[in-house]
Amino acid sequence: MAVPRRVVIVGAGLAGASAAGALRERGFDGEILLFGRERHRPYELPALSKEILLGNADEPAWVHDENAYADRDIRLHSATAVERVSLAGHSVLDSEGEEHRYDRLLLATGSHPRALRVPGSDLRGLHLLRTLDDSLALRTALRQAERVVVVGAGWIGCEVAAAARSHGAATTVVDPLPLPLRGSLGDEMGEVFRAVHAEQGVDWRLATAVAGFTGEDQLTGVVLTDGTEIPADMAVVGVGAAPRLGLAEQAGLILTNEVPGGGVAVDSTLRTSDPDVFAAGDIAAPDHPVHGRIRVEHWANAKDQGAHVAGNLLDAGQPYRAEPYFFTDQYELGMEYRGLADPRHDELVVRGDLGAREFIAFWLREGRVQAAMNVNWWDDGDALQALVDRHAEVDARQLRSGDLASLVP
Ligand SMILES: Cc1cc2nc3c(=O)[nH]c(=O)nc-3n(C[C@H](O)[C@H](O)[C@H](O)COP(=O)(O)OP(=O)(O)OC[C@H]3O[C@@H](n4cnc5c(N)ncnc54)[C@H](O)[C@@H]3O)c2cc1C
Repeated sequence: MAVPRRVVIVGAGLAGASAAGALRERGFDGEILLFGRERHRPYELPALSKEILLGNADEPAWVHDENAYADRDIRLHSATAVERVSLAGHSVLDSEGEEHRYDRLLLATGSHPRALRVPGSDLRGLHLLRTLDDSLALRTALRQAERVVVVGAGWIGCEVAAAARSHGAATTVVDPLPLPLRGSLGDEMGEVFRAVHAEQGVDWRLATAVAGFTGEDQLTGVVLTDGTEIPADMAVVGVGAAPRLGLAEQAGLILTNEVPGGGVAVDSTLRTSDPDVFAAGDIAAPDHPVHGRIRVEHWANAKDQGAHVAGNLLDAGQPYRAEPYFFTDQYELGMEYRGLADPRHDELVVRGDLGAREFIAFWLREGRVQAAMNVNWWDDGDALQALVDRHAEVDARQLRSGDLASLVP
C-alpha cells in the first residue's frame, strides 16, 4: 500500500485533534486537514459540566495551544462541517461546497445529546449540554434561576445538579430508574450518589418520568407521569447521548447494533469496513480483545484512541487494547473508574470506608477483577490500573483489607 500523503480528519473534537497532533509527533510530514463544525478550536468536554458550570473557569482545556495548528501545519477548518464522503472517489465534500481528496480518512464525529420527545420540548428555558456554547448559556441561566429541574440522573445530570445547587437553586432531579447511575454502578453505589446529592438538598423524583413541560413561551413547570407538576424556571435534559453516525452511514460504511446506541464497526485497529477509513472516539465500536464489541463515551477513550489511531492511519496495524477509564467530580466527591463491569451480575467488593465516602469498589467476575472505582481515594492508581488491566484473579478478603500492590500478578 502506498504511503499516505494526505490525511483528512472529520470532527475537530478530542479524538480528531489528538490524532492530528499524534500524526505530527510520529513524524508524518504529509498534509493534515481537520474539519470541525464548531467555531472554537478543539477542546475537551469534562469542564463543561464541572468547572465552567460552577463558575471556576471560563474556558475548557484546549486540546492544543492556539498556535499549534499553524506551527505544525495542521490545516484546521473551524465552523466547517463535512457533509458527504465518497469512498470510491477518496474525497469529502465540506459545507463550503469544496471537495477534498484523502489518502486516509478518520471519522471522529462524536455524539449529540438525546432530546426528550414530550409536549413542551420547544419551550424557552430548556437546555441540552454538549458544546462550550451550551455550557456558557447554561451557566448564565443557572445563575439567574431559582428553581431548576434536571431530567436524567446519569453522569451529566448528576454533575449539572451539583452545579445548580452550588448556584443556590432549588434543584429537582427526575429519572425513571429508582437510583441515579444505576446502569453503570448498580444499586449500592447508586445509593452513594443519591445520598450525596440528597445531603446537598437535591429533591429526587426517582422511578418516575417526565410527561411534558408547561409554559406559554417560557418554561414554567415540568409534569411527571404520575401527574405531579414541579414549578421550574428552567430544565436541563441529560438523558444520554447518541453517536453521530450520519456521515458514516451516508458513506456506506458498516455500522453495528451490537452496542447500545449503535456505532461504526471497526476492527481492533480502529479500521472500518473500508481499508482507508478509520473511526475513533464516541462513534467507534471496536472489537476489543477482552470485552468484544464495545463503544465507550469517555474522555480518556477519545484522547487515547485519537493518539493510537494516528499510527494505524500510517499502517502500524496495532490493536487498541486499553481498558475504559472515566472520572467525575460532584461537590466534594471525586471518583475514577477503570474497566468495565456489569453491576447486575458482577460481585461487588468494597475496601475502605463507605460511610466516610473514602473507598474503592471492585467488581469481580468469576473471581477476576473487571472494574475498580476509587472514591476520594488517590493513592493506589497504579495498582488499580494493573489489577484491571490484568483482570487479576484475587481473593475478595484480600481486596477488602490486604496490600493491593501485592495482589497484582
Ligand atoms: C458535558 C460533558 C462532560 C463530560 N465529562 C466527562 C468526564 O468527566 N469524564 C469522561 O471520561 N468523559 C466525559 N465526557 C465524555 C467525553 O468528553 C467524550 O466521550 C469525548 O469528548 C468524545 O470525544 P470525540 O472526539 O469522540 O467527540 P467530541 O468531543 O464530541 O468531538 C466531535 C466533534 O466533531 C464535530 N463534528 C461532528 N460531525 C461533524 C461533521 N460532519 N463535520 C465536521 N465536524 C463534525 C462536532 O461538532 C464535535 O466538535 C463528557 C461529555 C460531555 C458532553
